[in-house]
Amino acid sequence: MERGVAKTWRSANARYNLTGVQCTNCKTAYFPPRMVCAKCGRDTKMVEKKFSGRGVIYSYTRIFVPPHDFTEEAPYTVAIIRLEEGPLVEGHLVDGKKPEIGASVRAVFRRMYTEGSEGLIHYHFKFEIV
Ligand SMILES: [Zn+2]
Repeated sequence: MERGVAKTWRSANARYNLTGVQCTNCKTAYFPPRMVCAKCGRDTKMVEKKFSGRGVIYSYTRIFVPPHDFTEEAPYTVAIIRLEEGPLVEGHLVDGKKPEIGASVRAVFRRMYTEGSEGLIHYHFKFEIV
């Protein structure tokens, strides 16, 4: 997980809006954003792309012993989602329906964790089974 104010602001658009990039030549979409297309190299241009947030569960696991910042969240499920635009994205699943590989999901905006004694609250997209 990225930390620090500068990194937080740099990645805000990707974290809040599920925005990546798309190659103008081969149309491959990437998340997180990258400067160069893995297929076309530097002979193409990347443009910003906001993803729909819809996709399917590619893989998932249940976390019982979390990293420090997520102690109050445990147990929780982390999944890899295949977005309908193509990229694989990691995210927490909202508790609710039992996860299955291939289940349809949509991105929702949720509180992620609280940092430090001042209680700075971080938000991020999570995925909800639909
Ligand atoms: Zn390309």
